[in-house]
Amino acid sequence: MVERIPQRIDHYRYTDKGVILEGIITRQESDKNLLRLHESVTNQQDDIHYHLEFDKDRIDNRFVNGHIEAEVVMQCQRCMENFSLDLSCDVAIAFVHDDFEQKKAEDSGYDVFWLSEKELFDPRVLIEDELLLALPQIAMHPESDYGTVCQIQYNVPESEQNFDLGADASGPEQNEIPTEDDNPFAVLRRLKK
Ligand SMILES: [Zn+2]
Repeated sequence: MVERIPQRIDHYRYTDKGVILEGIITRQESDKNLLRLHESVTNQQDDIHYHLEFDKDRIDNRFVNGHIEAEVVMQCQRCMENFSLDLSCDVAIAFVHDDFEQKKAEDSGYDVFWLSEKELFDPRVLIEDELLLALPQIAMHPESDYGTVCQIQYNVPESEQNFDLGADASGPEQNEIPTEDDNPFAVLRRLKK
């Protein structure tokens, strides 16, 4: 049975008790409630799976460790075709309330999640934050797909696409070879003299 993810978590209680949250956020729920993610991708491929373990360590970092699995569809900015992208990521996040706790958590290797002392938080926000961080700045097919499924679209007007290379080989291109006057290295050479 799929339990719905709780919408309000007391991180003190969860980390004291070592609660483990495991389950899925369905596509429908994600489209409705993870709006930042929804707006950042072309489509969500499947349910989001999460496994989150709350705990605290000897120096009183209160943290959540775990794993999130999600696959989304994005538009490749190289060929403009859609492709699916795996956003699965490991999570190691400490809950912090002030600068001291932030430094302690970061020194221990955690990412930080800011909260006020009594604040209850929606774990879906944390999951969404992690997935947004996993998104590439520019979505593109992996390099191994270049030249096969990922072909650059040049958008050259059709009138310019059918030029005859043979006839034009000694044509305008020759004029584009820089003369000494506009060759930047020629300028440098002159300056050196
Ligand atoms: Zn592509």
